[in-house]
Amino acid sequence: KDRMITGITPSGSMSLGNYLGVVKNLIEYQDQYDLFVFVANLHAITIPQDPTMLKAKTKEMTALYIACGLDPEKMTLFLQSDVVEHSQLGWILTTQSTMGELSRMTQFKDKSAKQGESENISIPTGLFTYPCLMAADILLYDPKYVPVGVDQKQHLELSRDIAIRMNNKYGEMHIVPEPILTKGNIKIMDLQDPTKKMSKSSNNPKAVIKMLDTPAEITNKIKSAITDSENLIKYDPVNKPGVSNLMNIYAIIKNFSIDDCHKRWAGKNYKDLKDDVTEALLELIIPIHEKYNEIIKGDYLKDVLENGALKAKKIAIKKVNKVQNKLGINWYR
Ligand code: ATP
Ligand code: MG
Repeated sequence: KDRMITGITPSGSMSLGNYLGVVKNLIEYQDQYDLFVFVANLHAITIPQDPTMLKAKTKEMTALYIACGLDPEKMTLFLQSDVVEHSQLGWILTTQSTMGELSRMTQFKDKSAKQGESENISIPTGLFTYPCLMAADILLYDPKYVPVGVDQKQHLELSRDIAIRMNNKYGEMHIVPEPILTKGNIKIMDLQDPTKKMSKSSNNPKAVIKMLDTPAEITNKIKSAITDSENLIKYDPVNKPGVSNLMNIYAIIKNFSIDDCHKRWAGKNYKDLKDDVTEALLELIIPIHEKYNEIIKGDYLKDVLENGALKAKKIAIKKVNKVQNKLGINWYR
């Protein structure tokens, strides 16, 4: 089987965007590929985190992956920091990238702006260099494929550029990974500002559906989701981003085409649309919550992560040795 790797940062609770954009597809991929999935706790600390919260979110993300349908018997689930080779290769790749290419990363521009500083003085350095760690997360396992949402395409481009550059300079050492974009390029938008994507680390709780939100929270968030004053249900992401986003959420969960949606809501109003979206969401999350509550107890998760780290480490150690060798770091190995 071809290898595939992906991760999610526990910078907040898993969002509906994360689920529909990536996690849902992994359930299929775990049968087709040799799938590696990690909880990217080293990426979470690129923005300030409360340690107690970070622990909780890290555990939660692990449990949610499984509750959403990942099966540790079929795939490898681990914690990024448990495999120290991520940091080791990350540093090496930092020396193989340029200030220019990192400055062009749109996420750096967005997130540093969000930190509220126009001056560079208080922007954490990690927020600038993390794409190198991300490249290491990937290249460490020589995967053939990396499943990503559209917002992550630029990161994968950088990983590919670094891989090609090092292969040319020092001799073949990396497989150049291919992106697998979410079917239909799914991008779930922010419920309060539907012109930007839904992000789990958003400051506005009403803007984001979390996979662990209670049914009441979900109902309220959909109720207060921004639409427009036209009261016409039509898929038009440019002129009607809020309504289109709600239609899209429904369509993806229910496997509807946009045509099916137009038929379903012909002559209906926004309340009908929101009621349907809420119902679809509740149907989706309730079984996930049940599974989550079951596996969060006892030592199960710890065992899963320990096993996963062992499997990941075997590959990672070999790869770091190879890279260090090519670069002349390990003279005696
Ligand atoms: P953060 O705000 O911390 O960046 P995030 O919600 O953007 O959180 P990431 O950890 O950056 O989540 O990304 C995890 C995965 O989820 C990525 O593969 C990304 O492409 C996908 N993803 C994130 N947001 C969305 C979205 N709104 N729609 C579809 N896919 C998404
Ligand atoms: Mg993100």
